[in-house]
Amino acid sequence: MDTSPDIAARRTHLLAQLAAAAQQAGRKPSDITLVAVSKRQPDDSLVAALEAGQRVFGENRVQEAFEHWAGRREAFPDLELRLIGPLQSNKAHEAVELFDVIETLDRDKLAIALRKAMTATGRTPRLLVQVNTGEEPQKAGIAPAELPGFLARMRDEHGLVIEGLMCIPPTAEPAGLHFALLAKLARENGLGELSMGMSADFETAVALGASSVRIGTAFFGDRL
Ligand SMILES: *Cc1c(COP(=O)(O)O)cnc(C)c1O
Repeated sequence: MDTSPDIAARRTHLLAQLAAAAQQAGRKPSDITLVAVSKRQPDDSLVAALEAGQRVFGENRVQEAFEHWAGRREAFPDLELRLIGPLQSNKAHEAVELFDVIETLDRDKLAIALRKAMTATGRTPRLLVQVNTGEEPQKAGIAPAELPGFLARMRDEHGLVIEGLMCIPPTAEPAGLHFALLAKLARENGLGELSMGMSADFETAVALGASSVRIGTAFFGDRL
């Protein structure tokens, strides 16, 4: 199956939608990063995305991200890889080796493992904290009330610089409520980066201050 014309066209369309949403919100289109979520996409589609000029990709599993991207670093030195799924402490070293941004920091134990991996590798991926805005028991992330204390420990005990926040809203609630909460938490804590919004709700996320949107199916089509 040749997916390349579709992917290039969908990317162009998404960039136009993002620019329009930014302008409507009085924001600059260049302040919003389109993260193409490439999990469970066939290799042809990754190639098509690269050919269309896409360089920022999100993955939610470390192993799959290695399979997708490790061999492409040399040909595409400007690749930017973002981990948007849960990270186990025992995978921290591999994650630090591969990713440029880790968006799912949510535990002290993981912070310790990341610090150690950063010292060992000399790499310093940018870090976001995942916030469980809906306080769902099954979902990863720091509860909003615990965020200030967690951020203080990241800085004072673990020596980690946190650039921003990320959330995945509960599916049954209006996403805008959660995006607004995440933006408020970022403001209160002096953080600039906001990773929020997916295929179904990225325009709302941009209106509420997203600095990056994570778009899978609307970019690539259905996953395998
Ligand atoms: C898969 C995934 C996405 C992309 O979802 P789409 O609905 O396909 O755009 C975004 N964020 C996270 C954390 C994901 O796991």
